[in-house]
Amino acid sequence: MPRTVPGGPLFQLDSHPSGRHFLQIPGPTNVPDRVLRAMDRPTIDHRGPEFARLTREILDRLRPVFQTAGPIVTYAGSGTGAWEAALVNTLSPGDRVLMFETGHFAALWRNMAQKLGLAVEFVPGDWRSGVDPALVEAKLADDRAHAFKAVMAVHNETSTGVTSRIAAVRQAIDRARHPALFMVDTISSLASIDYRHDEWGVDVTVAGSQKGLMLPPGISFNAVSDKALAASKRAKLPRSYWRWDDTIAMNRQGYFPSTPATNLLYGLHEALAMLHEEGLPNVFARHQRHAEATRRAVRAWGLDVLCRNPAEYSGSLTAVMMPEGHDADAFRATALARFDLSLGTGLGKLAGRVFRVGHLGFFNDLMLCGTLCGVEMGLALCQVPHTGNGVEAAMAHLRGAPQAALSRAA
Ligand SMILES: *Cc1c(COP(=O)(O)O)cnc(C)c1O
Repeated sequence: MPRTVPGGPLFQLDSHPSGRHFLQIPGPTNVPDRVLRAMDRPTIDHRGPEFARLTREILDRLRPVFQTAGPIVTYAGSGTGAWEAALVNTLSPGDRVLMFETGHFAALWRNMAQKLGLAVEFVPGDWRSGVDPALVEAKLADDRAHAFKAVMAVHNETSTGVTSRIAAVRQAIDRARHPALFMVDTISSLASIDYRHDEWGVDVTVAGSQKGLMLPPGISFNAVSDKALAASKRAKLPRSYWRWDDTIAMNRQGYFPSTPATNLLYGLHEALAMLHEEGLPNVFARHQRHAEATRRAVRAWGLDVLCRNPAEYSGSLTAVMMPEGHDADAFRATALARFDLSLGTGLGKLAGRVFRVGHLGFFNDLMLCGTLCGVEMGLALCQVPHTGNGVEAAMAHLRGAPQAALSRAA
């Protein structure tokens, strides 16, 4: 019996009678027990010597994840906060910026830029494709006066399961010889899909804790180039909490200007250890492999993946199109009620039309099999037209293509 308090029963987390909940939304993701245990420690003095060591170790482990040698600013805040930080540190009221409609998250970032007083050119998209490098080049080549101060892209569009080719976008900016800053949202790709802040000449990389980094929600990041730092000295948008300079200066001593999310940082320290133990190339290969197995299941069911271009398939998640006349959210509700499986909802204009399978973060073959079994049973229960061969197709792929890190250990 739930205990009662004035106002009603206490919120019950363990609502399901037995076994683990399957949290297969594309973030927040499953938090490893190692990370949970690391956070379950007394909070320490964030101005003390122990904390300074923690900060330095985290920054050392974080840089190879962003693939940068430069500063990484960590915020107590969600990914949305880090979006705002990227804009307010680098831009001035009325600045023109170029953004691309890859899906719901790109649209939200655009809305934020407009609310902050930026003049956004939002290149329309079909929500099934990534940023087109040829369009980037054409738009920037036309801008001879260099009115665009920044180009923004979402690396992995979490609403659609489409990954934009950031290296190719960088090359397009270079071919147009355009000086705009390049800012990339990697909230659902960092530590899941190969991403290179320095090599790809990104000026601000925006990231969050609760997706590939396997942490609960609550911290977010800006990786910052020298060019972005220089722009921040001239930028006129008002900013206070999000200022980079104070944090970068204090991080050198291992501290933060205000109270950081201490226990989440314990968790980050542990999650980074896990990522480096597995090896980032193995982490990326694992995500690609689970994504491929998932797509094979979708095709064997006779359903369609939302992403049109195989070069843009996401390693983090797969968005699956519901057949006409069937409601993806009714299906998701059945999967939750019957199998304790949470699948991602359709966002924005995809509401009811797609469901999303998250296969990122702390995840393995049998978790994928369990997830796909839940999907297959849910499709049958909801009488969604499909074949029953999806799980078998995924298993065949997993059997045939062993995980590199595991087979080496065997
Ligand atoms: C989750 C997500 C966001 C939003 O992050 P919050 O932590 O919810 O504020 C933004 N962009 C992308 C690509 C995301 O996946």
